[in-house]
Amino acid sequence: MNRIHSRRFLIEPNERVKLARHDPSDTAPFTTEEEVKGLLRQAQKRLFDLTEVLYAQDRWSLLLIFQAMDAAGKDSAIKHVMRGLDPKATQVFTFKAPSPEELDHDFMWRCLKVMPERGRIGIFNRSYYEEVLVVRVHPELLQKQHLPPGRFTPRIWNQRYEDIRDIERYLCRNGTIIRKFYLNVSKAVQRRRFLVRLDDPAKNWKFSINDVNERLHWAEYMHAYERAIGATSTRHAPWCVIPADNKWFTRLAIAKVVIESLESVDLHFPPLDRGKRRELAEARRRLRG
Ligand code: ATP
Ligand code: MG
Repeated sequence: MNRIHSRRFLIEPNERVKLARHDPSDTAPFTTEEEVKGLLRQAQKRLFDLTEVLYAQDRWSLLLIFQAMDAAGKDSAIKHVMRGLDPKATQVFTFKAPSPEELDHDFMWRCLKVMPERGRIGIFNRSYYEEVLVVRVHPELLQKQHLPPGRFTPRIWNQRYEDIRDIERYLCRNGTIIRKFYLNVSKAVQRRRFLVRLDDPAKNWKFSINDVNERLHWAEYMHAYERAIGATSTRHAPWCVIPADNKWFTRLAIAKVVIESLESVDLHFPPLDRGKRRELAEARRRLRG
């Protein structure tokens, strides 16, 4: 597991992000899935142990945000991370186009309602970042948001970055560990995966013609991602750009980042006070008869 370090995927605060400089097919130092099978199992075990302590200690919470173009493998990456976690400590939330009720609130509302409790892990499949991604690429979506006059200005994107940074700092100060993942898939691999979805009846349901339409906006999306990631990667809530052309490497990289994020705080089982120790001794005595 020490052969890759999460630092390699992290975006520095105020970094000028150029996604073209991040290779979606990077898997170094590995070349095949076979080589990492053992490492993945080891990572899952470590993740399970860490999240047990997280739950028992009941102080910190962990928020993992996943953003990506379609077919980058968000669902499968999330499934894989989940497999290593204790279900009682973990919840996944998926954010699709907002409902009329959600549109009647500020853009953070639906996400803030479901932030992870202490001791828990919250996984967001898409998030409030859509507000500076799909909405930035399709600004007509802003019209639906019922903003009052004067609030819809060219400064809105920078204001949203600022609001997101503030909210994440607030969460962090209150004990939420935040890691944000951009799964970096290439346009060619996206095309290949779409074609598989079209050819495989078991995958047809995953396909929407809208996915092909959004491909036409690829360059605008990349630009929106670069701006958003650069403006909101902070020490306490960093973005990680994860190569996503090979799913096995994506999983390993994500596991590594999550493990290191949990190891960066003082996780420990809650100390036993004298009363509790007495209680355990008493239980032991009674069970032994
Ligand atoms: P995914 O593509 O994540 O695997 P899906 O294909 O099952 O999920 P979609 O019907 O594509 O689900 O729903 C996600 C869509 O909702 C995306 O196109 C996304 O951009 C859009 N969406 C999410 N949040 C917002 C938002 N705040 N405003 C507008 N559109 C949004
Ligand atoms: Mg989709």
